[in-house]
Amino acid sequence: MEYTGDAQEQREQRRKQRFATKSMHMTQKYLRRMRDLGGTMDQMDPFFNVLERIYVQGLEVERPHNVRTVGTYCVQVPPELIYAAGAQPVKLCSGHYTAFSIGDDVVARDACPLVKAIAGFEHMGTLPLYENCSLMVVPITCDCKKRIAGLLQEKWPVHPLYVPANREDEDIEHYVGELYQLMRMVSCVTGQEVTYESLAHALNLTGRAQYELSRFLRIKRATPNLLFGTHAMAVMNAASYLDAGTWADALRALNDELERRAYANKLVSRKDLPRIMLTGSPIVFPNLKISLLVEEAGGMVVADETCMGERGMSDPVVPVDASFDGLMRSLAIRSLRPCPCPTFADNSQRIYRLRQMVRDYRVEGVIYHVLRGCLVYDYEYRLVEEELEGMGIPVIRLESDYTDQDVEQLRIRSEAFVETIKLKKGPLKAVRG
Ligand code: SF4
Ligand code: SF4
Repeated sequence: MEYTGDAQEQREQRRKQRFATKSMHMTQKYLRRMRDLGGTMDQMDPFFNVLERIYVQGLEVERPHNVRTVGTYCVQVPPELIYAAGAQPVKLCSGHYTAFSIGDDVVARDACPLVKAIAGFEHMGTLPLYENCSLMVVPITCDCKKRIAGLLQEKWPVHPLYVPANREDEDIEHYVGELYQLMRMVSCVTGQEVTYESLAHALNLTGRAQYELSRFLRIKRATPNLLFGTHAMAVMNAASYLDAGTWADALRALNDELERRAYANKLVSRKDLPRIMLTGSPIVFPNLKISLLVEEAGGMVVADETCMGERGMSDPVVPVDASFDGLMRSLAIRSLRPCPCPTFADNSQRIYRLRQMVRDYRVEGVIYHVLRGCLVYDYEYRLVEEELEGMGIPVIRLESDYTDQDVEQLRIRSEAFVETIKLKKGPLKAVRG
């Protein structure tokens, strides 16, 4: 059947409307499941509300009038440079199933779901978070990111960041050059030059957020059952859509409340639930199904070593000297040296970080999450499994996609894993709190 121009447009509008409605329902479902876990507190509202604002209400990121947004992917883009040029960074990595189902027909079949979801939003053109970006910065970390940079370029100005595979001095040198280019590009978009003062101010801003994050993690480590890991992951995911100062203020209020609760021994679950750590491919809202399944099955996600979790923000910038170039160098060093992303050739850093987290959080089992098509993480599984087994920590590999169709199978495996750890620990004591 052939459509006239008007009819085609109406049909396209209806398709977009259906997409927006389905996206909204999908997000609402995950927000509801998060709340149904129990243990939420009023101080979590700013984080949940921003996730709702972006993906349910379909509104823009809140920001001062005239401030542009710059979309970023991955943890290697220093947000400080974007703030210093007068723009607001937003993270565009996506965990959306409805967008994935569209992107599945747009990009290569074997691409990972994260980039398929990005392609889906690009294709539908309905999400203000994406549509209003003045620039997108895509680190070229894996083949999927390289391909998606090309696709996004058809619609937005895109700045690819060439991330070195190694972290020797010459690689850092190369990355400093990359960051200077990025700085010029963002300045071009905003019309504001990056100065020593604006960069120092931006470092203070993100430093405040990092300080509150380190406080949050310290509180969680000391008393893991103060909040569910799924909620902690939502808190950290929300940093993608709030400016660093607003996020830091909201987290300070949550930290104060958590400290009050720790003092009063007010916990959200019994203390002896199996303590699980999640690692592997990125876990991006609303795709929180793995942590929800673990916690619905009676486990506790005490630690999250993924790039949307504590890895993304916890390393502070340590200025190498007080010059402008010194600040740029510190940003390059912070973006590469401590980063446990497995796209780097030498992964000893990652293994060291995992071992340290297992000890710090007294982890009793590890779930290694692999997004279908994410070779970067799949390759690493053997090495991580060997290390953890050497430490006597049980580990399972859970492969998933951006769909609800694998939920039942994942539920069975998560429940069995939680049960195995319970058996290893011996009978749980009949005490609450
Ligand atoms: S794991 Fe690494 S490459 Fe993949 S999305 Fe995260 S930071 Fe980017
Ligand atoms: S690291 Fe994995 S999840 Fe991230 S973009 Fe690459 S393939 Fe996709």
